[in-house]
Amino acid sequence: MTEHPPVVAIIGAGFGGLRVARALRDTAVKIVLIDRHNYHLFQPLLYQVATAGLSPMDIAYPVRAIFHNQPNVEFRLAEATGADLAAKTLRLSTGDLPYDYLVLAVGGMTHYFGLDSVAKHAFGLKDVDDAVAIRNHLLKIFELAAQESDTEKRRAMLTFVVAGGGPTGVESAGALSELVRMVLAKDYARLHFNEARVVLLEATDRLLANFPESLRKATTETLRHKHVEVRFGAAVSDYDGHRILLKNGDALPTHTLIWAAGIRAASLTCGLGLRQGRQGRIVVTPTLQAPDHPELFVIGDAACLDAGGEPLPMVAPVAMQQAETAAGNIRRMINGQPCVTFIYKDSGSLATIGRHQAVAQLGKLRFSGFVAWVLWLTVHLLQLIGFRNKLMVMINWTWEYWSYDRAIRLITKE
Ligand SMILES: Cc1cc2nc3c(=O)[nH]c(=O)nc-3n(C[C@H](O)[C@H](O)[C@H](O)COP(=O)(O)OP(=O)(O)OC[C@H]3O[C@@H](n4cnc5c(N)ncnc54)[C@H](O)[C@@H]3O)c2cc1C
Repeated sequence: MTEHPPVVAIIGAGFGGLRVARALRDTAVKIVLIDRHNYHLFQPLLYQVATAGLSPMDIAYPVRAIFHNQPNVEFRLAEATGADLAAKTLRLSTGDLPYDYLVLAVGGMTHYFGLDSVAKHAFGLKDVDDAVAIRNHLLKIFELAAQESDTEKRRAMLTFVVAGGGPTGVESAGALSELVRMVLAKDYARLHFNEARVVLLEATDRLLANFPESLRKATTETLRHKHVEVRFGAAVSDYDGHRILLKNGDALPTHTLIWAAGIRAASLTCGLGLRQGRQGRIVVTPTLQAPDHPELFVIGDAACLDAGGEPLPMVAPVAMQQAETAAGNIRRMINGQPCVTFIYKDSGSLATIGRHQAVAQLGKLRFSGFVAWVLWLTVHLLQLIGFRNKLMVMINWTWEYWSYDRAIRLITKE
């Protein structure tokens, strides 16, 4: 029996890490929650920050404010750089931290599949800095295009390319097209908007691969209706900041490539000597533990848990449900009980394609159009943390809806 309560170190205050800390609220443990940022970020709405619809403050919430009523949580703003798993000690940028249990909830990062030129010149969309950089770039390029007399150069400036036909790519392309056609067209009355293009590149022959075919088709049609050029079989092989080269040899002059084509586990997962599966995710047992390290739980985007031949998807519900199981298993271990197996309950999938348009799959039910859009709005509003954020997002959405405007059209210093 130790004198002090066991120390549960959690790396990552994202969807998974927050949920573990909350689930251990009434357990006699000392929780040390570590993150390189002092806020929790609601990543599903990042693309709205990138397209000038929301401010970063609306989708982020300070971690200390979330836990000020939970005395067993101590927050540390630090970068986790490694761990001595045998000695149960974490290496943080601020010093070492011994632990009894460790929860790795470090999430993912943009994956460029070894395309160095793309990594250098394209925009990722994974954190607040990425989203603000995209917003600044989009607004700046319109200012430059408005002053450019050479038609070819202006066309390249006004060509906006999104790579990756998953939910992030689809949502970004839809929002970008609306920003260009509904909002910026009013600001730049002297620009010829028939020169502006939004192109969505998808390497395979389908968008939203995890959705049923009817919804995939509806998504493609809706995007095309919103003036997004959807190109299938279009895999990027090079990008120098001015021209995309596709594997089939086609070239696309553009100053804007938003990379939504790949995600892999965060870098910390590489240096721990643990077995990694697809996308660098750490292979875990069905009880979410690292093999040979029962005190180490890995959850969310960082974890690779096989479900019928495929790893579970990198989505928020997986991270949150795994957090509950990991917290319960830590409690069981403390009480000398065996750990239980994680079972994922798929609550469905949603993706929006812009104003009045979304697709939703809930069990056997499938919707597209207005009903799915209202469902998407409601689910995302409810999931945001903090009353102020919910209110601000609701005000911004209402304003945009009635005014066809985007409130956050500021070019700021990055
Ligand atoms: C643009 C975008 C849109 C998305 N849309 C959806 C959606 O609509 N629906 C959906 O279900 N999912 C969506 N996702 C996926 C969803 O956000 C992730 O699956 C979810 O965030 C995973 O939760 P997590 O706890 O594993 O990691 P995260 O929520 O990513 O949290 C990881 C945390 O770890 C911290 N961290 C990482 N490494 C370190 C380190 N070395 N030291 C300290 N801190 C560290 C990070 O700062 C971060 O706060 C989207 C993702 C993106 C990027």
